[in-house]
Amino acid sequence: MSNRTLGLDDALYAYLCDASLREPVVMQRLREVTATLPEAGMQISPEQGQLMALLARLIGVRCYVEVGVFTGYSSLAVALAVPEDARVIACDLSPQWTRIAQRWWKEAGVAHKIELRLAPAADSLRALEAEGMAGQVDMIFIDADKTGYAGYYEQSLKLLRRGGLLLVDNTLWGGAVCDPAKNDDDTLAIRRFNAGLHADERIDLSLLPIGDGLTLARKR
Ligand code: CA
Repeated sequence: MSNRTLGLDDALYAYLCDASLREPVVMQRLREVTATLPEAGMQISPEQGQLMALLARLIGVRCYVEVGVFTGYSSLAVALAVPEDARVIACDLSPQWTRIAQRWWKEAGVAHKIELRLAPAADSLRALEAEGMAGQVDMIFIDADKTGYAGYYEQSLKLLRRGGLLLVDNTLWGGAVCDPAKNDDDTLAIRRFNAGLHADERIDLSLLPIGDGLTLARKR
């Protein structure tokens, strides 16, 4: 036995899912539909969705912002976890993918909690600040273009309340972050982003090896 984080082989991963997942049927179905798309790898894993829902309940989320919606799995997980009068603001660029998301939000009976904003994420975040949302948001999930992360992070810190939680996806980037041979724009952006957060005194920090790496940053 070791105190180092375990690598998960297929058998242990299957056990983890079996022993802990309580995925609602509507989310299972959305996952099955999304799995048929060529971009299926962009969907978060069910254990990550369940963690996000638990975190949302833990900190009492009443206002959640998502940057990068894809077909809506993560926004659905959070929308199902938050109270009836909570606000879920889902930001994406793609009408094609978010049409799927909207269908499943409706199917799950949470469409009334979710507001979709189709625009470049930086514009949507700027608009929220202009609408007086600075310091008002409880939780933000960033899962969009990787070269945009640093900018979305700064905008998100403005919107979050003190004690609010920022979640950032793909921060281990398939392991490329520690491969000196990988130096494409996305990998470099994520490396720089991770290093920036490590040194940032405005947040409490944890990088979880769940999915493709999920960074948790609590605004101090
Ligand atoms: Ca992702």
